[in-house]
This record gives sequence, structure tokens and C-alpha cells, in this order.
Amino acid sequence: QNPVPHASCEAIEAKVTAGESQHVPEGFIDYAAYQSQGGYGLLKECISGTRDTESVIKTMEDSGLRGLGGAGFPAGRKWRIVRAEKGPRLMAVNIDEGEPGTFKDRVYLERDPHRFLEGMLIAAWAVDIQTVYVYLRDEYHGCRAMLEAELEKMKAAPPMSNMPDIILRRGAGAYICGEESAMIESIEGKRGMPRLRPPYVAQVGLFGRPTLEHNFETLYWVREILEKGGAWFTSHGKNGRKGLRSFSVSGRVREPGVKLAPAGITIQELIDEYCGGMPDGHTLYGYLPGGASGGILPARLNAIPLDFDTLQPYGCFIGSAAVIVLSDQDTAVGAARNLMQFFKHESCGQCTPCRVGTAKASSLIEQPKWDVSLLAELSTVMRDASICGLGQAAPNPIDCVVKYFPHELA
Ligand code: SF4
Repeated sequence: QNPVPHASCEAIEAKVTAGESQHVPEGFIDYAAYQSQGGYGLLKECISGTRDTESVIKTMEDSGLRGLGGAGFPAGRKWRIVRAEKGPRLMAVNIDEGEPGTFKDRVYLERDPHRFLEGMLIAAWAVDIQTVYVYLRDEYHGCRAMLEAELEKMKAAPPMSNMPDIILRRGAGAYICGEESAMIESIEGKRGMPRLRPPYVAQVGLFGRPTLEHNFETLYWVREILEKGGAWFTSHGKNGRKGLRSFSVSGRVREPGVKLAPAGITIQELIDEYCGGMPDGHTLYGYLPGGASGGILPARLNAIPLDFDTLQPYGCFIGSAAVIVLSDQDTAVGAARNLMQFFKHESCGQCTPCRVGTAKASSLIEQPKWDVSLLAELSTVMRDASICGLGQAAPNPIDCVVKYFPHELA
């Protein structure tokens, strides 16, 4: 059930650097291996007309697959919206994976890159994309070397005629470049700063063209959904939710890692059934359901279904499903201080509520006694007036400490 990286990116990079790019590490599915397992057959069905665009988009819509980078916009609907825009259309793939605690994209990419590439090419075919830009986190050196090598193999023997140009771009090393419009600015060669919306990138995106923007994992699921049908994907899920989610679990669990689990699983189920429980001497104290920005919840709220839309009533969100588990040996105040330092460092500085707000909030919560009413005012300003999600969500950890862990402030 759970993917285990069979080949580390560093190992692949070392081999590529040593001129051994033809070497296929154990367990790694390269172009030839992927094709021998039926890979790119689905793409060929699309190109040959065995499948038509409408049925493919409809299956994607029926599956309910939502953007797995964190925003959660329905993938099939996005295909339809961008396709309705006047061409030429472009595509931008986000593999920046900068959300603290998130590592699912890397785990899948370094094991089975062509599953993602086939999904990407099917999306490009369905939406009639001219050029695809893949924005890869620069810290993933080995993955870049591996992807370059695999793309070269595809160029030499393309799986389709008229393959769109695929341009691999190195990420700029900034958290904010994971935000779709900042990523687009960065791909265009500018400083990565989020754009004001509207217009949306689906209408005016890369180089002013309508742009289909997707997270890596969203495209990774395309092949399986189209082969098995939309109902297959929705048949998974629990506690009233539908679909599958790849949780990046870290922190105080026995077996951290990427856990492919039903959407709607609770934190307690995830820890007990997928992570081997808590380590000896630790009891669940709290958890971050969605990386740095998704807030902090206490152990008593251990039965909330983890999915899009289920955490809003608690002032939290799941984002890219990066779950960080805290034990009785941690404090929520300590976590909030750490996170606010991170936001202060990563704010792009474009707008005052975020640039000044993260710095001010960081200094206020470093004090032994928190000025709770001043922090609440600051939080309101940041939420209401920041341009993008970084500034809007940055107060989440502070608000959660005040709401759920008041004993730490006493
Ligand atoms: Fe930049 Fe922060 Fe404003 Fe977003 S909210 S545009 S990261 S300063």
C-alpha cells in the first residue's frame, strides 16, 4: 500500500555524474521498464482516438480528484476551464514541494517518474497545451539529474508524435515559489512574488497565456484514474470522505513516511494503523494537519476526518497533507515560535501586512507572556489584507495556541 523509495535521488545523481546514466537502480522504473509494464499505452489510446477528450475530462471530473498541492481545486474542472480559453495554452507543473513536512512528491518522483510524465502528457493532450514547464525544487539535485536523463530518453524515442516541448526549470529556493503565481513569475525569470488575482492563471498565466497549473501528485494519479475509472477513486475514503490521500507523516511516530490512506482518516487512525503508533515514552499531545500553515490541533481533537474542507471549522486546513505529530515532550508554543520564524524568513516582502506582520508576530510570541489581544488584532489584519496565502495563513499557529493550548500561556 505504501510507497517506499527504492532508489534515492542522491544515488541516481552519483551514477549520472559518474557517467552511468544508463544504469537502472534496483526498483527504479525507467522509461524502458515503464513501457514494458504497459506505460504510455493510455496516452497512445488518447492520441489514436480510442479515447476522446470529453470522456477523459468527464472521468477526471467524476473521480473528484482535487489539486494535491494544497489548494484543492477540482482537476477535471480546471482542464475544462483552461481548454475553453483561447490558445496557445501553456502548462506549469509545480514540484517545488517547499511546505515543511511535505515529501510525498519526491518519494513518488524518484521511484516512478513516468507515471507522472504520462499523466502530464495526457493533461497536455486533453487541454491542447503547446509547452510544458516543470518547476522542480532545486534542493532535489538527484531528481533533476534523473529527470533530465529520462526526458532525454523520451526525446530520442517519443511516446507520441507532436509531443509538446517539456522545459525543466530549477526552483529558486524560496517557499513562496510554491504559490502558483509566484512560481509563474519565477519561471518567467523574475523574482518569485505572488500576483494579485483576478486574472487567474487559467486565463492569464505564463507569459500572458492561459495556463494549466498542476501539482506533481495530481498528475501522478491521472493514469490510474483513467484506467480504473472515476468511481474507483471515489470508492476509497472513510468517515464520509472520498478518495485517497498521500500523507507525509513526520514527528513523533514510530514509522514516519509517505502513507497512502483513505481520505477522511483521522490522526489517531493514521498513527495507529499506518505509522506503528507513537514511540515509547511519548503520548499524543497535538498535531499539525497541514504543514506549517495548516494550524495546530490538540490531541483531544483526534477524531476529525482529515481532508479538504473538514478542518475549516477548527481554524485549520489540510493543504498538501503534511502531518507533523507532537508528543507530550513538545510544546505548541515552541512549534508556533518556530513556524513564525519560518514565515518571517520566507515572506516575499511585497505587502506590508505580511512583511511587517510576520516580523512583529514573531517578536511578540518570543516574549514569555503573550499579548493575546494585540496578537488577535495583528492576526485579523494579516488575514484580511495580505495578498497571498502565506500572509493569510501565517497567524494560524498563533491563533491555535491561544484557542487550544491556553494552559501553555498561563
Ligand atoms: Fe509576499 Fe507575504 Fe504578501 Fe504573499 S502575503 S505577497 S508572501 S508579502
